[in-house]
Amino acid sequence: MNLFELTTNLMKIPSVSGNEEAVGFFLRDHLTELGWTVELQPVSENQNNVIAYLNDTPRVFLSTHLDTVPPFIPPTEDEKKIYGRGACDAKGIIASQITAAEELRKQGITDIGLLYTVEEETSSIGAKAANNHSLAQKCEYLINGEPTDNDLAIGSKGTFRLKIIAEGKAAHSAYPEMGESAIEKLLDILHDIRLAEFPNDDFFGETTVNIGTIEGGLALNVIPPRAEAGIAIRLTTPRAPVEKLLNEIVGEDGKIEVLSCSEPIKMLAVEGFNQKPVRFTTDIPYLTNWGQPLLLGAGSILVAHTKDEFVLKKDLEEAVKLYVNLVKSLLEK
Ligand SMILES: [Zn+2]
Repeated sequence: MNLFELTTNLMKIPSVSGNEEAVGFFLRDHLTELGWTVELQPVSENQNNVIAYLNDTPRVFLSTHLDTVPPFIPPTEDEKKIYGRGACDAKGIIASQITAAEELRKQGITDIGLLYTVEEETSSIGAKAANNHSLAQKCEYLINGEPTDNDLAIGSKGTFRLKIIAEGKAAHSAYPEMGESAIEKLLDILHDIRLAEFPNDDFFGETTVNIGTIEGGLALNVIPPRAEAGIAIRLTTPRAPVEKLLNEIVGEDGKIEVLSCSEPIKMLAVEGFNQKPVRFTTDIPYLTNWGQPLLLGAGSILVAHTKDEFVLKKDLEEAVKLYVNLVKSLLEK
């Protein structure tokens, strides 16, 4: 199976977050056939991380995730590109990592491993489970793959996800003085959040805020007793100063419920590679036991998660070479 066949074969197996079992079995069988020792690490009843290695001392792991965002889009291809769900995020990356690992093995390099996790796109439960795996202690460098246009990402922004909830008092809309509108309170808070100057960082860039969801109210003729907004902040600084500012804005008018937070992280820079910070987050914050993190992968994050997801075939080939060189330069360190 060549690089492109492996990519499309992986893409043919739907693996929207939560349904990674079949693609995990496929990889287990494929890698076993190639001669790898393969472990399925159970994460939930029908979800397994896939971990593969060649000897007892894997020092560098290539890694990404098995799941995709919905909906499933079967693969198609032409001379230059592979299209469909997972083309770049992240099945093309899995295929280029396996191809690179096989190339390294041909060259006699066997201190390498492969780690593929479930549910990166939602909860990172796969990465959290992988972090407790005994092999983590042996791993010195973790090369994670996400679409970075084949540049070496040297930092990624954090993500702070939260809800803001405003409570009011229901009343007949003809007698507003009898009630208190939760929606009006929430709108005021959101207005202030939009005007707020969140701290930025020279290295990571600008902290950005997305008010992604908003809901509340009961009916047109009822003063709304409750309203809430869901917010994702791309962090460029530690969470604390951002949270402090949010607390000041929200004050007594609402409450903040934190859903999740990953801090911005810096990754290892290696000479001879194009380097840049990226804005998205990955499994890396949850794989802290797996040595120093690096991030590189074919394809563009701008088409990932869209209906037009694709990857250039030449970028997959380039990624194979980059992974081979990267692993070699890390093993020489
Ligand atoms: Zn991804």
